[in-house]
Amino acid sequence: MTRGITLLGATGSVGASTLEVVRANPERFRIHGLTAHTQVEKLFELCWEFRPDVVVVATAEDAKGLFDRLRDAGVFTQIEYGAHALEETAASRGADVVVAAIVGAAGLAPTLAAARAGKRVLLANKEALVMSGRLFMQAAREGGAELLPIDSEHNAIFQCMPRIVGHGKLRVGEGVERILLTASGGPFRQRDPATLDSVTPAEACAHPNWSMGRKISVDSATMMNKGLEVIEAHWLFDAPAERIEVVVHPQSIVHSLVSYADGSVLAQLGNPDMRTPIAHALAYPERIGAGVRQLNLTVIARLDFEPPDFKRFPCLKLAYDALAQGGAAAVLNAANEIAVEAFLQGRIRFTGIARIVSAVLDAGLAVQPDSLEHVLQLDKTARAAAQILVAAEAR
Ligand code: NAD
Ligand code: MG
Repeated sequence: MTRGITLLGATGSVGASTLEVVRANPERFRIHGLTAHTQVEKLFELCWEFRPDVVVVATAEDAKGLFDRLRDAGVFTQIEYGAHALEETAASRGADVVVAAIVGAAGLAPTLAAARAGKRVLLANKEALVMSGRLFMQAAREGGAELLPIDSEHNAIFQCMPRIVGHGKLRVGEGVERILLTASGGPFRQRDPATLDSVTPAEACAHPNWSMGRKISVDSATMMNKGLEVIEAHWLFDAPAERIEVVVHPQSIVHSLVSYADGSVLAQLGNPDMRTPIAHALAYPERIGAGVRQLNLTVIARLDFEPPDFKRFPCLKLAYDALAQGGAAAVLNAANEIAVEAFLQGRIRFTGIARIVSAVLDAGLAVQPDSLEHVLQLDKTARAAAQILVAAEAR
């Protein structure tokens, strides 16, 4: 039996890695749905290759353009557009698996819809979980969804856990001592902090080990990505913040570790390639080929570890602070999305990202959200506050 897959964010970096795993395993998987935001040409090519049942684009105009081209090419795919269609497609009965690979807050509603519909959800979109943690986990439980992380660190942790913590017997704090979340340290781990003011978007996006979308690349450079991942791990593994430790590991070979009360430490290793966690989660509990080179330890020869530098990377500290404060993670995420976008547009300096996120957190907007509407309201308010600060920095 083949598994039907809906891929939210098909034209992105995680989307591309997912499609490579599907290509390598055609007898196991078929594509039910694909979604894209602006890259309609790329989506057309994917329709030609994968013949999905349904695709979703952003606007009616894009849908019409794609419809004409597919009709001329003799490809019959249902074409939808807009936010509501994203949610409907994520929950549609045609797919067993939904890969949540839209970047940022835009991914929240469709990912939540997939969770409510009881899908196997492969979670790449960490922002959704950061924004809505408790509500999202509750929706997944109530919907009977199977939540499998494909963020490489969380996939590693999942593999090193005896079973899904929170649903099984061993819990963090009771048998599981700590989660050790590895971080590469990004492109600026050793750069003179005095020069961080003049960093360009191209430099920030040049990650030493991973090729990723621009937003997560900037997050890796500020280490906000690791902060978001601490929050992600908190929710996925039901782990208190003080038991989630960040360890800088520049080679990105050890993708994370779990330490146990008896002194055992389990780690997952592999070449840095998103196809590994994606293949693991697509086939789980089986194992399939992912097209990834096998790890050669004697070639790698050494693995280094060091503590994170909270002074150089204030965003990491801000994320821990936000986690300690109910509702602040949604504020942190919203402010960060606005600040990163402004940095990528050349409107603010690299160091302005942390300043803006810190100031928005200090504005006292955070309240524990009790509904999705509440989360979205908080997100909107924090974005507006961040925009004002961007304008002030840009002057
Ligand atoms: P990307 O920028 O390469 O791709 C983003 C995708 O989201 C694209 O398909 C785009 O069309 C879609 N999208 C963007 N804005 C949208 C909107 N408003 N509405 C609907 N769709 C929209 O990003 P990426 O690097 O593939 O990352 C995707 C997610 O996965 C992020 O949340 C990121 O944190 C997470 N992630 C990525 C990696 C990686 O290696 N790239 C690793 C771990 C986690
Ligand atoms: Mg990661």
